[in-house]
Amino acid sequence: MNQDNPLLESTPLPAFPRIRPEHVMPAIETILGDFRQATAAMLAPGAPRSFAGLLLAQQHLEQRVANAWAPVSHLHAVADSPAWREVYAPAEALLAEHAVELGQNRELYAAVQALAEAADFAGLPRPERALVEHTLRDFRLSGVSLEEPARSRFADIEVELSRLSTEFSNAVLDATEAWHEHIADERDLAGIPESGREVLRQYAREQDLDGYLVTLKQPSVHAVLTHAEVRGLRERVYWAYQTRASDQGPNAGDFDNSARIEKILALRHESAQLLGFANAAEESLATKMAASPAEVLEFLHDLAARALPVARQELAALREFAQAELGLDNLEPWDVAYAAEKLRQRRYALDEEQLRAYFPLPAVLDGLFALVAKLYGIRVMVRDGVDVWHPDVRYVELLDADGRTFAGAYLDLYARNGKRGGAWMDVCRARFVDGPQRQLPVAFVTCNFAPPPSGAPALLSHDEVQTLFHEFGHALHHLLTGIDLPAIGGIDGLEWDAVELPSQFMENFTWDRQALDLFARHHQTGERLPEELFQRLLATRHFHAGLFLVRQLEFALFDFRLHLEYDPQRGARALEILEAVRNEVAVLHPPAWQRFPHGFSHIFAGGYAAGYYSYLWAELLSADVFAAFAEHGVIDRDSGERFRREVLAVGASRPALESFVAFRGRKPEPEALLRSYGLGA
Ligand code: ZN
Repeated sequence: MNQDNPLLESTPLPAFPRIRPEHVMPAIETILGDFRQATAAMLAPGAPRSFAGLLLAQQHLEQRVANAWAPVSHLHAVADSPAWREVYAPAEALLAEHAVELGQNRELYAAVQALAEAADFAGLPRPERALVEHTLRDFRLSGVSLEEPARSRFADIEVELSRLSTEFSNAVLDATEAWHEHIADERDLAGIPESGREVLRQYAREQDLDGYLVTLKQPSVHAVLTHAEVRGLRERVYWAYQTRASDQGPNAGDFDNSARIEKILALRHESAQLLGFANAAEESLATKMAASPAEVLEFLHDLAARALPVARQELAALREFAQAELGLDNLEPWDVAYAAEKLRQRRYALDEEQLRAYFPLPAVLDGLFALVAKLYGIRVMVRDGVDVWHPDVRYVELLDADGRTFAGAYLDLYARNGKRGGAWMDVCRARFVDGPQRQLPVAFVTCNFAPPPSGAPALLSHDEVQTLFHEFGHALHHLLTGIDLPAIGGIDGLEWDAVELPSQFMENFTWDRQALDLFARHHQTGERLPEELFQRLLATRHFHAGLFLVRQLEFALFDFRLHLEYDPQRGARALEILEAVRNEVAVLHPPAWQRFPHGFSHIFAGGYAAGYYSYLWAELLSADVFAAFAEHGVIDRDSGERFRREVLAVGASRPALESFVAFRGRKPEPEALLRSYGLGA
C-alpha cells in the first residue's frame, strides 16, 4: 500500500489525480509514526542537542506532515464528497492529537530551552533565534508546563475543539447546499442582470432542471439581494441565508450550530484559563501585534466614533431615497443592498455590468502578473501539463530576474458544487532550504467567481477583481519569502493581525489608473477603461464607507467581546452580546430571527477567534504602506524592492512592527486608514 501511496512520495508538487481518500489514513499513520520515532531518537542520550539536531530536524518532520496534509485538506475544501469527509475528520483528529502530544513533550521543551539559554544563542542568525523563541512560546501555549489532571484535560479540549470546528463548517456548507428555489418564469427574476441569470441558469442545469435555480451560494445571494426587484424573493433569500445552520429559517434545526457555538466558547475559555490567561481573548493576543485587549477595544472604539456619524448620515439618505424613489416605506434588511445599488447607480450612474465588460478574467490575470513584474522584478508564467484536481485549475510559476523558477501557485477561480464558498490562499508547499535540499514555495489561490458561459471569458465585477488581488497578495507573501525555515517564513508564525497587510495592500492597485491600464481591457474591443468610467468608479469607492466600516466593527467587536467576556456561569450569550454590540456600533438592526453567528466560520471554524479585528488593524498597516508607494508614483520599483525586502521576505523572523518601521521609517499612523476610507484627516 505504502509503495503506491502518493501522499508518501516526496515530490515538488502533489500528484493530485492519483490522490484518493483511502490513501489518507495509512499515510498520516505512517508519517506520524516516523515522526514519533525520530523525535525520540533526537532526545536519546548522546544525540547532539544543537539547533540542527533539534529544531531543523523538527522542521523536516513537520514538512513531511505538511506536504501530505496540504493536498488532503485542499481537496476536502474544493472537491468535497462523503468519501473525503469520512477520512478527513479522523485524520484531522490524529494530527490534532499528535500536535498536542508534541506540544506537551517536556523533554523537547527543556532541550529547546537549553538552546535559548546557551552562551552562543545571541550569535545565531535571526531566523534561527526567532524559531527558538516561537517554539518556546508555542510550547507554553500548548500547555507544556501543566500538571495532571489539567494536562490531560487540556489535551482533550484541543482535540475536541478541532472536531467541533470541522463540524461547524460542514454544517454551514450543508445548510448552504440544502436550500434552493426553482424559478421557471423569468419575470420573477426582474432586475437581475444577465451575468446573474446565467449563474442561476447554470445551477439549474447542474440539477437537470429547466429555468433558474436560486441558491445560497455567494454569486446567487449577491445577484438576488443586490438586484432582484421582487421583494419577496429578496426576503426569502435573506431569510434562508441569514439563518443558515441555526434554529431559525426554512431549515430550522437541521444543521443547527447553536450547541457548537456554546461548546466552542466554553472550551476555549477553559483552555485559556488552564494556561493562566484570564480568557480566550487574552490568549489570542499572545500571538498578535496588539499588546492588550484594552488596545484592541480602544482601536475599534476610536474607529467607531469616527465612522458612526458618517454611517448614520448615509443610512438616513438611503432611507429617504428608498422611500421617495423606490416606494419602500420601511427599509428592511433585504432591501438595503438593493436600495444601495439603486442609489449608487442614481448618484454615479455606474453600471456594474458595463464595468464587467472591462474585467475579463484572462486580461485581469495578465495585468496582475504585469503589475507584480513591475513592482518586484519577477515574472509570472502559466505552465501547462501540471497535475490538477479540476480542469478549470491553472498553474503559474514565478521566475526571478535570471529566469530561475523560485515559486508556483495553483489558481482555482470558479465556483462549483462541493467547493467551499469564499476566497482564500493556502499553502501547498513552503520554502525550505537546508544545505543542498531546496523546496520551492507553492500556494493555492481559491476564488468562487461565476463560471464563464461557454466560449467566452468570465467577466468579473470590480469587487471580484479586488478579491483576486487580495488573495494573490497573500500568495506573494508566501511565495516571495526569503526565509529558509518554513515555520517562520511567509505567513507561518506571523502575528495574526499583520497577516492581512500584504493582501489588503494589493487591493489598492485596483483603484489606481496606471495599474488599471495594465489589466482593464474591454473583452470585445480590447480598449482601456475610458477615463470617464474610471472617474465614476473612483467616485463610488467611498460610497457607504461609513456603513461598511460599522459593519466590520460590529463583527470585530462581537468576536472580541464574545471571547473576552465569556462567563462560565452564564454561557456564551452570543445573541445577547451581538445585540449589545449592535446597540453600540450598528445603525442597522436585523430581525430577531437573524442568526449571523451561526455562519460566522471565520471565528468558529477558521483562525480568527478573538482576531477578526485583525482585518481592520492590518488594513491600517496596508493603507499606510500603500501611501508610501503613492508618494513615489504608485507603481514604484524601489518601493516594491524595499517592501519585498523589509516585509514580504522576512516573514516572522522579526516582529511585524519592526518590519513595518523598517519599510516606512516610522510607526503606522491611524489617519492613513481613515483617509483610505475617505473619512477626513
Ligand atoms: Zn485575506
